[in-house]
Amino acid sequence: MKELNYDSVVIGGGAAGMAAALELDAAGFSCAILEREESLGGILTQCIHNGFGLIEFNEELSGPEFAEKIEERLAGTGIKPFTGVTVMEMDASGEHKTLYCYSGTHGVLRVTSRVVVLAMGCRERNRGNIRIPGDRPAGVYTAGLAQRLVNIEGFVPGKDVVIIGSGDIGLIMARRMSWVGCKVHAVVEILPYPSGLTRNIVQCLHDFGIPLYLSHLTTNIIGKDRVEGVEITPIENGAMQHEKAFTIPCDTVLLSVGLVPENELSKMAGVELNAMTNGPAVDSMLMTNVPGVFACGNVLHVHDLVDYVVEEARRAGAHAARWLKGERPKAEARVKAGPNVRYSAPGRVDLGAVNKLYMRTLIVKNDATLEVKVNNRVVKSVKKNHIQPSEMIALELGPKDLETALGAPEPVVEISIT
Ligand SMILES: Cc1cc2nc3c(=O)[nH]c(=O)nc-3n(C[C@H](O)[C@H](O)[C@H](O)COP(=O)(O)OP(=O)(O)OC[C@H]3O[C@@H](n4cnc5c(N)ncnc54)[C@H](O)[C@@H]3O)c2cc1C
Repeated sequence: MKELNYDSVVIGGGAAGMAAALELDAAGFSCAILEREESLGGILTQCIHNGFGLIEFNEELSGPEFAEKIEERLAGTGIKPFTGVTVMEMDASGEHKTLYCYSGTHGVLRVTSRVVVLAMGCRERNRGNIRIPGDRPAGVYTAGLAQRLVNIEGFVPGKDVVIIGSGDIGLIMARRMSWVGCKVHAVVEILPYPSGLTRNIVQCLHDFGIPLYLSHLTTNIIGKDRVEGVEITPIENGAMQHEKAFTIPCDTVLLSVGLVPENELSKMAGVELNAMTNGPAVDSMLMTNVPGVFACGNVLHVHDLVDYVVEEARRAGAHAARWLKGERPKAEARVKAGPNVRYSAPGRVDLGAVNKLYMRTLIVKNDATLEVKVNNRVVKSVKKNHIQPSEMIALELGPKDLETALGAPEPVVEISIT
């Protein structure tokens, strides 16, 4: 078995992993990136549409272009990127974490380090996760898998398509399948509002005349060997309208019904998960409950924009470097998701620093107010023109906002939206 040792190891070579590694390297720590695919870039490599990088690079890039620009920053650094290396097991119980990896080129690798940054991204929810009744015919794919088939393998998986779920991947694939000559008959969404970004509703559905059925449930996938159609049932005032159910004939169903952080390795290492995000629960340094194990990007919580992933990953890398130098926050407060807030990451703030939080709301609203309370006293109030669950909300809290928490026995920062 080949043995390697670094000050820090990043699992996953997507946007998050590369950005975190760059910070660790800049702080003078040796760092390896372990990536199971044959190239770096993660999910970006299959996202050939535009819409990446408006914040990070101030220009609109495709996913591969964005990945390339981040990867270029690795040149000339001491970072060791290993591709084709899958981390199979992680033992984080000691001061030195041990990763057992498999690689076609290197065989079995045992990699040790003082710090591990989890950046494994997320995976798609599938038919089993949402229990759609019906037969088990061929022709049902997750939208991300279909994207990979079309964009990377050059294979179009059907002709007549219905997309279940209006998440961003489904919307992007509605347009992509239209471009490659398929007829996309509908996008069907159980919620009364779309799950994807507004810009994707406009550019991927409206521009192509693809109908979006909101408040509609897919109640049956029809077909024995191959999909023949889907049965759709409207929902009115919370009740299914069975007499109004209808069938859309199709040969292909794409599922875009949510993403879940890739958390097997995290669980194996004893990392506590946040029940709302399914990713690790982290403190103000983006460190998990396991000392020296940090998390960022989609493995921590599912992000809408890669620019936010990179920003968060930079913080994770910089905090990991500080942690290696022995720096710790002097005082922290717990962050509580109050009314209409689904979650806020991280779950703790440093009372002596500027903290960046990302959160998601549970409601769709114009002219909303985001309110921050410290131990029940309002310390900050921010107006938002429009909020919706699919769009992440960013918030900064500095020492001035948090000063009333100093000295309190168990300070709580509560964030609510009205
Ligand atoms: C279809 C789609 C469309 C999108 N559209 C946009 C858009 O228009 N604009 C925008 O800004 N953002 C968009 N995003 C979001 C953005 O691309 C992602 O949030 C971001 O790229 C995620 O980066 P990440 O590094 O956290 O995860 P990933 O890119 O998923 O990287 C994780 C990496 O970890 C590796 N890995 C996992 N487990 C292991 C293991 N055990 N061992 C070794 N390696 C492992 C994986 O192979 C992967 O390469 C889109 C995302 C998708 C899926």
